[in-house]
Amino acid sequence: MPSYNVWTVGCQMNMSDSERLGAGMAGLGLDLCDKPEDADVVVLNTCVVRQTAEDTATGMLGKLKKVKDANPDRMIVVMGCMVGPSDTDLRRRFPQVDLWARPQDFNPILETVAFRHGIENGDLDGCLANLVPNDPKVATFVPITHGCDKFCTFCIIPYRRGRETSRLLPELVDEAKMLVQRGVKEITLLGQNVDSYGHDLDDRKDLADLMEAIQDVDGIERIRFLTSHPNDMSTRIIQSIADLPKVCETVNLPFQAGDDVVLANMRRGYTRDQYLEKIDEIRDILGDDITLTTDVIVGFPGEDEEQFENTIDIVERVRFDKVHSAAYSERPGTVASRRLPDTVTQSEKKRRHQRLDAVQCAIQAEKHAGLVGTSTDILLEGRKRGRMFGRNRNDKIVYVDDGAHVDCNVRTGETITVEVTEATPWSLVGQPTI
Ligand code: SF4
Repeated sequence: MPSYNVWTVGCQMNMSDSERLGAGMAGLGLDLCDKPEDADVVVLNTCVVRQTAEDTATGMLGKLKKVKDANPDRMIVVMGCMVGPSDTDLRRRFPQVDLWARPQDFNPILETVAFRHGIENGDLDGCLANLVPNDPKVATFVPITHGCDKFCTFCIIPYRRGRETSRLLPELVDEAKMLVQRGVKEITLLGQNVDSYGHDLDDRKDLADLMEAIQDVDGIERIRFLTSHPNDMSTRIIQSIADLPKVCETVNLPFQAGDDVVLANMRRGYTRDQYLEKIDEIRDILGDDITLTTDVIVGFPGEDEEQFENTIDIVERVRFDKVHSAAYSERPGTVASRRLPDTVTQSEKKRRHQRLDAVQCAIQAEKHAGLVGTSTDILLEGRKRGRMFGRNRNDKIVYVDDGAHVDCNVRTGETITVEVTEATPWSLVGQPTI
């Protein structure tokens, strides 16, 4: 049988899409190949949210061109956010690519692979109907919505992933049950704007209803959700985190900028005070120990020093557990690229980015140091950097200081209690308690 490789760059949604496409390839009978350059069919699942991600994909296409020149039978597919409504320009720039597919457009890929490789007995209908990962990680992602309706001025995603649509609740519950049978213990419900789940469904079920339904699935031990928008995170959703024992005490709530003028230019739809009120509401309902993470862009067009310092002010006030920060990167086709000149120099963006990271790093170091000596339960996810690791309910990565005796295959998927013995700003080390 021919072999396949799905190469991925970008967000958790892309990783999940790749897992699902891999399930389809396996359903056709293709063999997994570790290296893209050795596979008969290679799919690049791309991201263009920032220039660096786009450059990574185009660099990979350059490498694969040599492979294609030497082996014209190899099939190269590009999927994901690099592919817009028209692929004419992409076809001209990258003639080595056989097929272009928009995000989650799995069917044409699988149909073309089956046709080109003469796979007549493959379960094509089954593949397309049920793209649930065959060999998922113990903590895995489940997309519950596709697309986004927010149209923040800097973001390309609504143009590439389309308008927001929700998957049906019973289908998601069935998928959770299937994932349990395949060894999954923790699921993260994914959406570009996960809190608006269900707004387009006839029965108007929302994220709280979905989490309640998945709470009842035997074998699922933990539920998380990503990514939230402050305007759609309702009191009902926050309360469900408190009420549902399997929902972890972790909220990712991007604020993007701490200044009202910048927020208006981003069309985020809230002010800094409204954002801070939402944080207060979360902490009132869930307590001060709730883990809060966020996303921030520095150097947005027109952002001056004072406006940037307003972002730092929010970071210092809220004291997030993690900040995913990025320097603004103009994305052709967005409102910002058309109407807001990219005024902040690269060196200034870099300086602001470094300053933000330094502030946040100090906060994380302090918070994590305060955890040394405490006990926490971690779900073991595998081995990394020579050690078993897992995460606790607060989404802290904990490496296990276990000597040499822990067998990765035996322990992955188990929840163990550890005492935290060491801390860095990014992770913890813990010793199993007997
Ligand atoms: S909410 Fe804004 S930043 Fe997030 S995916 Fe939608 S448009 Fe992009």
